[in-house]
Amino acid sequence: MIEKTVAELSAALAAGEISSVELTQAYLDRIAHYNKTLNAYITVCNDSALAQAKAADAARAKGDTSPLLGIPLAHKDIFCTTGVRTTCGSRMLNNFIAPYDATVVERFNAAGAVMLGKTNMDEFAMGSSNETSYFGPVRNPWDTEKVPGGSSGGSAAAVAADLCAMATGTDTGGSIRQPAAFCGITGFKPSYGRVSRWGMIAFASSLDQAGPICKSAEDAALMMNVMAGLDEKDSTSIDLPVEDYTATLNDSLEGLRIGIPRQHFAEGLSPEVEQSIRDGLAVFEKLGATIKEIDLPNNHLSVSAYYVVAPAEASANLSRYDGVRYGYRCEDPVDLEDMYKRTRSEGFGAEVKRRIMVGTYALSAGFYDAYYRKAQRIRRLIKNDFSSAFKEVDVIIGPTSPHTAFGLGAKSDPVAMYLEDIYTIAVNLAGLPGMSIPAGLPGGMPTGMHIVGNDFAEAKLLNVAHQFQLNTDWHTRRPAALGKEA
Ligand code: GLN
Repeated sequence: MIEKTVAELSAALAAGEISSVELTQAYLDRIAHYNKTLNAYITVCNDSALAQAKAADAARAKGDTSPLLGIPLAHKDIFCTTGVRTTCGSRMLNNFIAPYDATVVERFNAAGAVMLGKTNMDEFAMGSSNETSYFGPVRNPWDTEKVPGGSSGGSAAAVAADLCAMATGTDTGGSIRQPAAFCGITGFKPSYGRVSRWGMIAFASSLDQAGPICKSAEDAALMMNVMAGLDEKDSTSIDLPVEDYTATLNDSLEGLRIGIPRQHFAEGLSPEVEQSIRDGLAVFEKLGATIKEIDLPNNHLSVSAYYVVAPAEASANLSRYDGVRYGYRCEDPVDLEDMYKRTRSEGFGAEVKRRIMVGTYALSAGFYDAYYRKAQRIRRLIKNDFSSAFKEVDVIIGPTSPHTAFGLGAKSDPVAMYLEDIYTIAVNLAGLPGMSIPAGLPGGMPTGMHIVGNDFAEAKLLNVAHQFQLNTDWHTRRPAALGKEA
């Protein structure tokens, strides 16, 4: 049962084939068995999960038919949860227990979903491999010597290994889509403002967005129906009506105009990944779509612009961790300055410190115009590139990542790691929706197809992905073995 999609589990629960308590227990047993190997969860909530499951079963008995009622999920440990610690993958927040739930968490609770636990992640969501976590790396369930991607690597590994039915993630530059690609599952990053950021620990506020990590586009639609919508507590949340994202999943793709960016099929792309994506494009052609090459001429500037904007915002957001207000405080400080310095030196890991230094530098007087303002101008050019492209096409398709998952420890150079997001980062800079769906298994490892839409075209993306999944079976493939230690 635990290998099923959310849509299937929802039907099984409704038909009384299984109870939420039984389902929850099955996931908890599997977590107890495999989490030692995968390290996908930082915190597992055995007792509260079973209590929530019991409540869900009772609500169902009284006639509640909410689609996610009783479905076990995992939250990335960046979402604040009342009474359960929220670490953000950092020593700084090792013991932090939030006094409130993030809006995303609150909405899943209200929908009756069961929280199994909190998933591992790169520290403060900074990374592409899950290796910057204070709690150790997550391993890829397809090959435990490889990374699951990041920063939402714990959520992606947990979904791929059936350690939950669905999970939440966040994506600032690719952190939902790239781990989804590496773990052979579906990851969805909504348009900026579509899902509330309230209670989601801030990394780069103008780029961060929460979204679903799950087994199918249909499941992503079910999750988006719960997650999306205006939240008065988040001033960047958009006041647009929330569609029923499941309602248009079966729309025909006849006449769909697909753009493939030349810049995403250029040097650096693995030939096997390219072949998987081209095979996938042929599926769309059979469904009546037309394909044309397009240009995103400023794409090559996106990583550089991001690594000014994101660290700049991070340096401001992370200034709040001072040993006074939240989390870690160093032992026996001699004075205030010593406390600030040692708390931050000991509480943050190397990558986070690197970002704070870069960001502080980029924002300092005399450098602001040279770096920050210039990066913001590039951001506008990138947005304009997409706007021109969407005059000619409905969706843009390419690879999510230039290659499949790499080995643990294989990328020690920070810039090599930054280049991981070469196809995904521009989408965050432009605030657009994007998703990754499984598209092949070159060399036995999953590869992801990246689908990007215009502002608030969530329903269109989910429709396109669902039609692909009705005509292919890559999304149903699961890792055969979980490694020797399991
Ligand atoms: N890999 C990118 C970074 O380290 C993106 C991370 C993310 O999307 N949270 O900043």
